[in-house]
Amino acid sequence: MVLSLDRWVGKVAVVTGCASGIGAGIAEFLVDQGLIVVGLDRRCELVQELAKKLSGKKGQLHAVKADVSKEEEVVEAFKWVEDNLGPVHILINSAGVAKENFLYNGDAAQWRATLDVNVLGVCIATREAVKSMVGNNINGHVIHINSVAGHKVPNWLGINIYTASKYAVTALAETLRQELNHLGSKIKITSLSPGLVATEMTTLNTGVSEERQAMLKSMPILQPQDIAEAIGYVLSTPENVQIQELTIVPLGETF
Ligand code: NAD
Repeated sequence: MVLSLDRWVGKVAVVTGCASGIGAGIAEFLVDQGLIVVGLDRRCELVQELAKKLSGKKGQLHAVKADVSKEEEVVEAFKWVEDNLGPVHILINSAGVAKENFLYNGDAAQWRATLDVNVLGVCIATREAVKSMVGNNINGHVIHINSVAGHKVPNWLGINIYTASKYAVTALAETLRQELNHLGSKIKITSLSPGLVATEMTTLNTGVSEERQAMLKSMPILQPQDIAEAIGYVLSTPENVQIQELTIVPLGETF
């Protein structure tokens, strides 16, 4: 499926939420392809372990500790990247949270925390990356890891504010596309919307109810490397082609 990632070899890609799951899978894939990847996560020690595992590959992985819901930490992280590795060419917003909760009786602090990471975190990291790209005349690429839940509401008990946060990501991708067009910029923006993927957010999460665990385990599921290869495809398109939205689901997905 991947065309060629040659033009990105040696370039800097920031991947948020890189400690596990989809973000870790994408980081591994991009390092294999020869990119300089910065894994930005609040669980920095896990990114460091991944970096050790990937040493000796064509590219490199650098771990940077930052909580995407804390503006000053994200600004500081991007400054570190520019000072130490150079301008940002690619941003992949993969950091995200989904807490089992309900709208009819849930906890507002938990809803706010979800919006802070899934919506504001995406906005802040994107602003910093686009600033770096525009300031250095780079025709970069921003990819939001959205979800099928950003386009339709799956009938899953406990999904609460997560779907609204992902609908927001759909809107953010299109709004940024229009802003970049208005600027006359050649920076690309893609919303990539996976169906169910085996990660700590889903089948590898032991902290959810048995009912939810059983439901997740009964469904067809993708692996993080499936998403990483789709990222490879999106990044490998010719300069005049933009994949605006890519939905990728396991064969047989039922919701
Ligand atoms: P995951 O829990 O394995 O990965 C999420 C990562 O984000 C973790 O490494 C976590 O440490 C990091 N993170 C969370 N809050 C953070 C914060 N405040 N600052 C920095 N890092 C933070 O789950 P995943 O499935 O790999 O999720 C990645 C993205 O994919 C999310 O945006 C999620 O909404 C989306 N997604 C997941 C699925 C799925 O089925 N797993 C489906 C569609 C979309």
